[in-house]
Amino acid sequence: MSVTVTERMWQVFLNSLEVPYDWSPVVSIAPKLNYRPTMFLHDQGAFLDVMSVEHDEEDERATDRDESGFSIPQACVANVCHMPLFVTDQCPCLTTPPSDHIGGDYSFNEIPSFDVHLSDNCWDRNYMWCECPHCGMLGIEYMGRADRISCECPKSAHGDKGYNYDSERLIRAYRKVDQVFEASGE
Ligand SMILES: [Zn+2]
Repeated sequence: MSVTVTERMWQVFLNSLEVPYDWSPVVSIAPKLNYRPTMFLHDQGAFLDVMSVEHDEEDERATDRDESGFSIPQACVANVCHMPLFVTDQCPCLTTPPSDHIGGDYSFNEIPSFDVHLSDNCWDRNYMWCECPHCGMLGIEYMGRADRISCECPKSAHGDKGYNYDSERLIRAYRKVDQVFEASGE
């Protein structure tokens, strides 16, 4: 299957962050039945599936979703591999121009988010890339709560709600996608 524009945008974003990934890994979810999520993220120990309008028109992945919004194969990947599978149909772009954010923070709804299927048939929504403000470790956590990244660094005073989804490095990576695709006219 060809790589969609949305998928190429995620490649640019992750390359900018120097996050390693395996593209389109084959996952055995049952005897003689494989599924290929968009990518496997080594450092996060997670799968990332990029859905797009282009996929929805031709891809069986878009069908047979249960009430959670995940397809049966997507749920199987998480359950069989005991690793989370993050799903998004959003581009890694920012919805507001840089001029709106001089010296200011971004709100949740300005940042691309993921649904996540955890193992054991649990799922959740509103996960975002975030960065530990101390060591720079990256993760995809609920509402971009960097406190939940599994490094040994001291956490915020709250202990759980230290948000850091709009760090300088992450915003630079989102902007990089804007720049590359504006330049190419896509
Ligand atoms: Zn850290």
